[in-house]
Amino acid sequence: MKYAVVIISIGHKNIDHIFHYAIPENLAVETGMRVIVPFGRGNRPTEGYVIGITDNTDVDASTIKNISSICEEYSVISPRRIELAVWMKEKYYTTFGSCFRCIVPKKVNEKNFACVRLNSQNENINEEIVKVLKKDTRQKRVLEVLLNGDEIPVSHIKTLLDVDDSPINALIKKGILIKTYVQEYRGNFNSALVERSKPPVLTEEQAAALYKLYSVIDSKDKKPLLIHGVTGSGKTEVYIRAIEKVLSQGKEAIVLVPEISLTQQTVERFVARFGSKVAVTHSRLSDGERYDQWTRARRKEISVMIGPRSAVFTPFENLGIIIIDEEHESTYRSDIQSPKYDAREIAEKLSELYGCAVVLGSATPSLSSYYKAQKGEYELIELKHRVNNSFPLIHIVDMRKEIAKRNFSVFSAELKNAIGKNLENKRQTILFLNRRGYSTFVSCRKCGYVMTCDNCNVSYTYHKGINRLSCHYCGKSIKVPRICPKCGSEYIKYFGAGTEKIEQEVLRLFPQAKVLRMDMDTTRRKNSHQTILEDFRKGKADILIGTQMIAKGLDFPNVTLVGVMAADLSLNVGDYRSGENTFQLVSQVSGRAGRADSEGTVYIQTYSPDNYSIRYAAQGDYKGFYNEEIAFRKNMNYPPFTNIFLVMMTGENEYILRQTLSQLAEIMRRYNKNNMFTRLGPTPAVISKINNVYRWQISVKCENEDKIRNYVLFCLDKLSKQTDLDKINVGLYLNPSYIF
Ligand code: ADP
Ligand code: ZN
Ligand code: ZN
Repeated sequence: MKYAVVIISIGHKNIDHIFHYAIPENLAVETGMRVIVPFGRGNRPTEGYVIGITDNTDVDASTIKNISSICEEYSVISPRRIELAVWMKEKYYTTFGSCFRCIVPKKVNEKNFACVRLNSQNENINEEIVKVLKKDTRQKRVLEVLLNGDEIPVSHIKTLLDVDDSPINALIKKGILIKTYVQEYRGNFNSALVERSKPPVLTEEQAAALYKLYSVIDSKDKKPLLIHGVTGSGKTEVYIRAIEKVLSQGKEAIVLVPEISLTQQTVERFVARFGSKVAVTHSRLSDGERYDQWTRARRKEISVMIGPRSAVFTPFENLGIIIIDEEHESTYRSDIQSPKYDAREIAEKLSELYGCAVVLGSATPSLSSYYKAQKGEYELIELKHRVNNSFPLIHIVDMRKEIAKRNFSVFSAELKNAIGKNLENKRQTILFLNRRGYSTFVSCRKCGYVMTCDNCNVSYTYHKGINRLSCHYCGKSIKVPRICPKCGSEYIKYFGAGTEKIEQEVLRLFPQAKVLRMDMDTTRRKNSHQTILEDFRKGKADILIGTQMIAKGLDFPNVTLVGVMAADLSLNVGDYRSGENTFQLVSQVSGRAGRADSEGTVYIQTYSPDNYSIRYAAQGDYKGFYNEEIAFRKNMNYPPFTNIFLVMMTGENEYILRQTLSQLAEIMRRYNKNNMFTRLGPTPAVISKINNVYRWQISVKCENEDKIRNYVLFCLDKLSKQTDLDKINVGLYLNPSYIF
């Protein structure tokens, strides 16, 4: 008797074990297959994955159940990817089930369409054909289309000849035609629409970078490679050449890009060179589209996959290279859903399993990656020059002086003049509002009361369009109060400027300007993102106003002016990475100016012109920024010098929540031998309540990632033995990429 070792894919900790099932004679079960098994007392049909097959089991033979059926006739997960799942489960302290669900997409029925062709099995077919061709009928016309042996969709024949099903069915009945079903892939990128392009002659820097990259591709022990290249230095061309090399070796490539830069433009640059070998995924794909693109990769019908972080799981078994563009982006981490993985870490693990190269690229590498490069854990390549050799002229505008000059507008005099000139010169302008958090809050000028959503303890955001205050967490919206709910005064003031406000101000100052706005509100509909950018590229507007959505990766040749409306907005958010975030945002957005042959100018408006992140960003000095920031991190013992492990508990009863966290703190204190771990909290989370659910947290610092994980899990286990955790939701985050 053979037994399958099955992992049940329910994402619940208590059932996250391995179970043995007997394989019935009539089922060809293989390792890696998705199966249905009877589970639990009720024998509920449940999905599972076979991770191994064995001859013996120590489970009592009388209790062992049979596998009911297989979901697909092939293995959906290869042995190396089973290994990946096991590693993920440990690393991200989660269940097997959730790891498998990441690696293998949900099963969706294939979409097939009917075709017909000549029935080659029929020995008497020729006589039958002759009979039909004698008479001038609809059957004859159908048959003539198919005589050359093609397989043609039934629907095509019907439209082409303007007939219904009956002549086709008659021919099938006579044994002349047979019906077949061909799979239609959903979500294919239409590569036929993209004109193929020729490779440009590489710049010296690009050639040197490629030389090093090739040697990494060919070496056995591969270190990840970090390309630090200023915006416009031609990193994408380097990626493309590296992929060409990998494909020529018969291997496959994955290109990860942040969702925001997954624009038509980026995708087309790859399609223009690799044609129909490229597939694209993004987060808005339906289950069917996702499953079909995954299937094409599994069947080796494509060899380049471009997509956001989840594309790292593309089932290429001959994986040659994984490229992660804009590697500093926080979107490479999954912070909400389990497993809370980091695509960069998954890529490194795949490199270990498949021997593929890993390339990280950015104009503003994350501090942790650059630190690794400095320590020699990563190879480093630097591209210091733009392909067109011009760097934008960057001015820092001190907004405090504007107020002293009694200019209370959102535009400094300098930026206003520059916009006017740019309009006259028929050049395009981008205005960028660095709005992390929500700055457009409403408060009382007399008592300082801030209008706050009582479900969520976050301030309301003012929306001029509908003239209401709305909560961006729970969606609640209220009318703007006339008088302060607290002190009754009439002095209600709107703080901070949203994109809407900037748009109005632009239209007031420059009534002749054509303006596009891109933010959460204008990009709700599918493709609206795409449409706005396309319109801007085609010159349908002079000015594009937007949030960080427009900061990345866009390449508009006619944009010569960029205004950063308020560079400080990401500075004061109480996060140890706020300096890094500000530097990245300001640098990235400045990189949008003057990318083609014309000079670019950038105005950075700020109330803290001496801040080092803003100063270094304006000078385009990554190294200077890095040195100052890394010294600060070291001094304060922040990552990358330590790891911060955050335990976030949420629940509706704040009293129970606080008590439970106090108990956890007590356990942590008891088991903290030699004071190896530094504990902070319990404290309320930055957003202390969302939708009437309270949020409290404890964070623990320690240099060693494994030790900290084991310590926290150990303490949580102790806690669960002495307290009922049923009403409390526990979230665990290692170095979370943003504050909660
Ligand atoms: P990055 O990704 O580093 O910001 P890009 O790859 O977008 O830079 O390149 C910037 C621009 O330069 C693009 O328009 C690209 O087509 C062009 N480019 C890149 N390499 C070359 C080259 N060797 N010769 C001419 N143009 C190039
Ligand atoms: Zn008041
Ligand atoms: Zn709310």
